[in-house]
Amino acid sequence: MTANPPAPEPVIALYGVRTSFGAKVVHDGLNLEVLKGEIFAIVGGSGSGKSTLLREMILLQKPDAGSVRVLGQDLMQASREQVLSLRQRWGVMFQHGGLFAALTVLENVGLPLREHRKLTSAQVDAVALEKIALSGLKPEVGAQYPASLSGGMLKRASLARALALNPELLFLDEPTAGLDPESADGVDALILELRDKQGLTVVMITHDLDLLWHITDRVAVLADTRLQGVGSMQALSAMGLPSVHRFFTGTRGGNAFAQHPDGTGGAWKPK
Ligand code: ADP
Ligand code: MG
Repeated sequence: MTANPPAPEPVIALYGVRTSFGAKVVHDGLNLEVLKGEIFAIVGGSGSGKSTLLREMILLQKPDAGSVRVLGQDLMQASREQVLSLRQRWGVMFQHGGLFAALTVLENVGLPLREHRKLTSAQVDAVALEKIALSGLKPEVGAQYPASLSGGMLKRASLARALALNPELLFLDEPTAGLDPESADGVDALILELRDKQGLTVVMITHDLDLLWHITDRVAVLADTRLQGVGSMQALSAMGLPSVHRFFTGTRGGNAFAQHPDGTGGAWKPK
């Protein structure tokens, strides 16, 4: 007799998370699961606790209570060695790029490799160049300094650095914020390609409705200390939850939740 295969363990699972800063309770009884290979987005109003939630998934912040498991490990109990090894299994693209201004793009991308891999300088450069190309930048950009890059190129350079160690998980904080529509479209396609070709699991914070409709598998709406709804954009719009609806109708773009700006009328847009 063969039993049904067990459901795969989520790559990220937060249960009963409580986070407060002084008297302000940011998360309370928050549960969240992200499955392998998903493009998962977290949306919510300003100050709702999205960045804090992300920081709790990448060992930059500890909740007051609850459990946080990432890649099969309990982050609340992880030893120093486990923390060091976990940090190499995910890549993070911070909202403002976070590149070092005094280093070239190539040096910035190579930094995690120099820190964590035993490679020669030439090998570091070769891997860094590969990630620069993977992120859709020309090799010449490697010699440039962050200050000379456009917003779109800066995001791509930051992405290249996040990919340096071949992570299993990619965290993106506002990957298209501040980009012109054309650059933003390029980033959409790039994230999708990384998931499809490299098998990455992607967790991002965004309020970009195009990105949400075009490439996410599931979206979680954070409000009033917990997730108010989780599902595909289509499912969320069909749920009719007032708190979810309020968030989307309040976003720039007006009624884009009920009627996507590209005229799909809220219907699921095929990928
Ligand atoms: P979001 O990313 O959704 O805009 P954040 O996670 O940055 O929200 O912040 C959620 C709330 O927690 C805000 O009210 C913010 O002021 C507060 N907060 C975040 N980090 C800290 C901190 N280190 N100290 C005090 N308050 C904080
Ligand atoms: Mg934030």
